Amino acid sequence: MYGIIHEYLSRELAAIEENGLLKRERIITTPQGANVHVSSGEDVVIMCANNYLGLSSHPEVVQAAKDALDTHGFGMSSVRFICGTQDIHKTLERKIAEFYGTEDTILYAAAFDANGGVFEPLFSDQDAIISDELNHASIIDGIRLCKAQRYRYKHSNMEDLEEQLKAAQAQRFRIIVTDGVFSMDGDLAKMDEICALANKYDALVMTDECHSAGFIGKTGRGVPEHFGVMDQVDIITGTLGKALGGAMGGYTTGKKEIIEMLRQRSRPYLFSNSLAPSIVGASIKVFDLLSKTTELRDRLEENTLYFKAKIKEAGFDIKPGDSPIVPIMLYDAALSQQFANELLQEGVYAIGFFYPVVAKGQARIRTQISAAHTRGDLDKAIAAFIKVGKNLKVIE
Ligand SMILES: *Cc1c(COP(=O)(O)O)cnc(C)c1O
Repeated sequence: MYGIIHEYLSRELAAIEENGLLKRERIITTPQGANVHVSSGEDVVIMCANNYLGLSSHPEVVQAAKDALDTHGFGMSSVRFICGTQDIHKTLERKIAEFYGTEDTILYAAAFDANGGVFEPLFSDQDAIISDELNHASIIDGIRLCKAQRYRYKHSNMEDLEEQLKAAQAQRFRIIVTDGVFSMDGDLAKMDEICALANKYDALVMTDECHSAGFIGKTGRGVPEHFGVMDQVDIITGTLGKALGGAMGGYTTGKKEIIEMLRQRSRPYLFSNSLAPSIVGASIKVFDLLSKTTELRDRLEENTLYFKAKIKEAGFDIKPGDSPIVPIMLYDAALSQQFANELLQEGVYAIGFFYPVVAKGQARIRTQISAAHTRGDLDKAIAAFIKVGKNLKVIE
């Protein structure tokens, strides 16, 4: 019976490929780090991982995962509320709450699930969700799963947010939802202004800190810390799959009653497996490391400033922003692909993004800086950008 859909899928896939939109995966044969070996043979500097703090293969994190395997086993074979909660799951939830200064935390298998399961238990058709138009796909899906009235405001546009808040005054509860750092441009949500508007129009505030937890803000508490409004944000979601070790797992942290309601009613929590003990053990180590010192986040900031300065000096056009996401603008989709291919020849692994991932005419190489990059790694990347940039006539 596969015949008809087989034909259809083959045609669709061919069309995707013809349009140059087929995603191919490069194979890495070493652990994730500043430098990796790819199966085509090159040793390359990685400029496109979310390994902002260099914790993905950090020896202390790897050891903590091994220790947890020995003491707590490999898998839980259960959701949390049946027999899937160990002492270490509760310890990690407490550590995350301490890190943010919140009351409680709930773990998920991924931040996608944290965002997918946060709205429906809290809001009904009497309520309003007011969302930035560039929010992450998981937030959009989470909102779709909830019956609340939907309001969307133009990206980081506070006049439009205010208009939407006015329109949403008819509803019972209101919540403003935003990414903390927007991953394509690397810009920060205007959290201070968002909180002020939330206060004026009686709304809750939720931020997704996936691209900021651990390194944005003076002590790495994220975008609310950067803007001095940590006590005004009601719900924070985040991932363990980026800066915080990079394995997998997500969390929602905030007010006690909100977290308790999620434990009772959030579907990805109730009906999906408990986080593996090795990930939990390693994540506890990550929060211990980050609570002890800001060394990694400070090095990341230093590396970012260095890379940006050199790339700008070379004549490239980069998007301004306060995050380690540095988009190098090329504006042309085909050029972005060629640029990335030539970078790989020079031993630099970066990805060109173009429509529909970013707006039409906004193609770019998105680079992401890591605390694990040495000065030598960054200099290699900068030299490669300059060589390819001249070759392709992007710079003089
Ligand atoms: C990566 C990302 C997610 C998903 O995180 P996972 O833990 O990998 O599911 C959610 N929101 C934002 C803003 C992200 O960047």
